[in-house]
Amino acid sequence: MELDKMDENDWKYHGEGNKSLVVSHLQHCRVLRLLKFPSEDSTAEQAFRHILNIVDYSKYVMKPLLGEKYVHSGEVVKLPLDFVRQLSLKVQQERPELRCDKVMDTFSGCGLCLPNLTQLPLHHLRDHRPPICVEIKPKCGFLPFSRHITKECKRKVCRFCMHQHYKAKVKPDFFKRMYVALKNLLEEPQNNLKIFKGGELIFSCKDDAKQQPELNDLIQHLRPYFSHSNGLYNGHQPGKAILNEFIQVICSALLSGGDSNRSGEPRKVHLSESRPHCEASPFPRDLLRNGNHGLPKDSVLAKILQVQMLDNLDIEGIYPLYKRVEQYLEEFPKERNRLQIDGPYNESFMDKVKNCPTEDDGSVEYAVGKVHQYRVAMTAKDCSVMITFAPCEEDEEQQLKLEKPRFTYSISILDLDPKPYEGIPHQYKLDTKIVNYYLRSTQAPP
Ligand code: ATP
Ligand code: MG
Ligand code: MG
Repeated sequence: MELDKMDENDWKYHGEGNKSLVVSHLQHCRVLRLLKFPSEDSTAEQAFRHILNIVDYSKYVMKPLLGEKYVHSGEVVKLPLDFVRQLSLKVQQERPELRCDKVMDTFSGCGLCLPNLTQLPLHHLRDHRPPICVEIKPKCGFLPFSRHITKECKRKVCRFCMHQHYKAKVKPDFFKRMYVALKNLLEEPQNNLKIFKGGELIFSCKDDAKQQPELNDLIQHLRPYFSHSNGLYNGHQPGKAILNEFIQVICSALLSGGDSNRSGEPRKVHLSESRPHCEASPFPRDLLRNGNHGLPKDSVLAKILQVQMLDNLDIEGIYPLYKRVEQYLEEFPKERNRLQIDGPYNESFMDKVKNCPTEDDGSVEYAVGKVHQYRVAMTAKDCSVMITFAPCEEDEEQQLKLEKPRFTYSISILDLDPKPYEGIPHQYKLDTKIVNYYLRSTQAPP
């Protein structure tokens, strides 16, 4: 990519979240992630610092914690302002109305260049079927267990989870529970599911797509990938069977050791052999307390869960420590840098995360370490996982042999931005509000 010859016509709108807007290159497997700002008050210097923090945080903190193979930190690029302005005009009409309360940063010229994770770089174009990519926001995978919790209901299975449990009936194994969760996501995607085909969004919730997601349309898209002649069906499988196989491929990828590597050979999954055996108890709550969640150790979900669990005090335990830090900083404002409250996010920050004392010795170091850990866990609760897969080349031969299809796949974790230190009081208030509302609305009226 030649930065001085950037042309907005080589790029198109790809998607956006709360904090950034993403455009993808028409030919290369690249995207540009551009930050959004609620106002144009921020300076170019602030924007640059901010984006550098994002890359450092991904590279030095999240990547070592989540695993090299899953995280792509990208690089900061300085783009010509003219290009960014033209690009912003070009994508404006594609943006969902709901997202237009924020504007794309067109004044700093800073962006983040990343591999386009909805594509498979090594996927040979010999196959006419482009890669399918499923993006999931896993959210928080455990129930809080901190002794600082004041409301007992927070330790209990939330209503949504209880519903999942009920639907899966008693004693579902891990594969079944995940299967049910994915099936629910497909039926009610909310904000937590997107599906791309050849890099194009084909399925998502109402807010992000122009049309309401249609399961039947999705099935039509997926049909060519699962059209193996299966005895009687002879390539005309009913929609349900296609969705079933689709979900199985995703589950297998999510539970695999995930040796996926974008620069190496992607992993292969064989549909008919893919069902991993269950190691989990039907009662994840107790298992989670012991750190034994039943997920295969190297799987992407186990990695994310492990980082989420750095939040072992809950916001109720963190807030007093935040106040301890604040009090200390009031007295010694210059210490803010040494304690790396606002970064830099480098190895030394990572040391503070990893080597925080286990017991509260009353020190500010302990408080800062726990606050840092909490923020890292918050990032892991807000990330996305992308599973991108495509049929293996030898597939045609296999179809002749009437075998089930084989897929090549790659898994990545994205959206790993630092969560602001200043956000902690807000998190504390929000938690109180949510819990109180839940208690009020579930208690029987007097
Ligand atoms: P959120 O509101 O969830 O915090 P965000 O503003 O931080 O989102 P991202 O999640 O990083 O932004 O990006 C927005 C969307 O752009 C993602 O959901 C994903 O669909 C797409 N996207 C981001 N990075 C990539 C990438 N490297 N390759 C392909 N698509 C990407
Ligand atoms: Mg996101
Ligand atoms: Mg984000």
